[in-house]
Amino acid sequence: MKLSDKIEAIEESVTVQFTPLIQKLRNEGKEIIDFAVGEPDFETPLTVIESTKDAIDARKTRYGPVSGLYELKSKIARQFDKYSSDNIIISNGSKQSLYSIFQAILNPLDEVIIPTPYWVSFSQQITLAGGIPVFVNTRDHQLDLNEIEKAITKKTKAILINSPNNPTGAVYPKSDLEKIAELSLRYNLYIVSDEAYDFFVYGGLKHVTLFTFENIRDRVIITKSFSKSYSMTGFRVGYVAARKEIIRAITKLQSHVSGNVCTFVQYGALAALSVDESIILQRLNELERKRDAAYNYVSKLFNCIKPRGAFYLFPDVSSRLKKGETSKDFAAFLLKNAGVAVVPGEAFGMKNHIRISYAVDEKLLEKGFEKIFEVISR
Ligand code: PLP
Repeated sequence: MKLSDKIEAIEESVTVQFTPLIQKLRNEGKEIIDFAVGEPDFETPLTVIESTKDAIDARKTRYGPVSGLYELKSKIARQFDKYSSDNIIISNGSKQSLYSIFQAILNPLDEVIIPTPYWVSFSQQITLAGGIPVFVNTRDHQLDLNEIEKAITKKTKAILINSPNNPTGAVYPKSDLEKIAELSLRYNLYIVSDEAYDFFVYGGLKHVTLFTFENIRDRVIITKSFSKSYSMTGFRVGYVAARKEIIRAITKLQSHVSGNVCTFVQYGALAALSVDESIILQRLNELERKRDAAYNYVSKLFNCIKPRGAFYLFPDVSSRLKKGETSKDFAAFLLKNAGVAVVPGEAFGMKNHIRISYAVDEKLLEKGFEKIFEVISR
């Protein structure tokens, strides 16, 4: 019996392809330093843990409203001028949010423009929704607005924006986002704005959300997450903010897919929104120090644009590749010889780069780079 064409059309993530090898090396007793992780190594804030436990003790263990706890949605809505709880849906992480958005807005063969490199799941989720991902090159990891405009056709339904960006750490300036807003008006397009890394901007920069532009409120769909901001990756909680009809459409879908997000977890998320600002700032400062240290190491070995957000570096490793090799070979080489796991750029649509996460313990960061130096200079 055959599987569906839909499932045959998508691919397993390149990230996952390395998991068995990492496991095998670890089973053989080898130390593997993990620069492939997509999460900060900070503890989940205590108040989040305690509020989640309290909610269990108070037996908040039943089904809840599909779109989420009213208190949580209302508190989130306060970040968005003129929005109410009806403009928010709580999801099982922004991965689910994005899946639902594409299901809700795309008809078969509708096109979505995605700047390259891009986070692995965007294109697969668009394909699952029957749409077509249209990749557009960036310039020095920044948006190339001419290329984006040239890629717009009669079938284009949306432009996907992810700033701060995974994998590059690029942060797009307000002026470029404004131009994206203009394009969406001129060509009648949705903008799907993945702001999962909104907390992580450095050097005094401020995150600019596409919600800033009032004239596109009917067409901008924002996803955010508790995963990275509050070190709650395992809680699986994120949300969508958009006009009410879109939220109603996604709620309809979610009612058949998962129902509400785990009830007691939502109380943890509610507590996260009151986490002391100083804790967030302290974590941000620590990450900025790690970014600087990691960038210093990396730029001695490869060409790398200094990122201004998220917690990744995305160096160009082409000068280290032998003829015919891609970053997948290079990542395998680093894993086997240096015991350091990185993500090959293929996972993000660029085969000459690797993604390095620096959100790891400071000593491990140093040790990992020393090992990379050693095997490369050998
Ligand atoms: N969007 C981007 C750009 C990401 O990097 C990730 C996770 O790595 C997600 C969305 C999904 O995050 P979550 O589902 O944990 O909220």
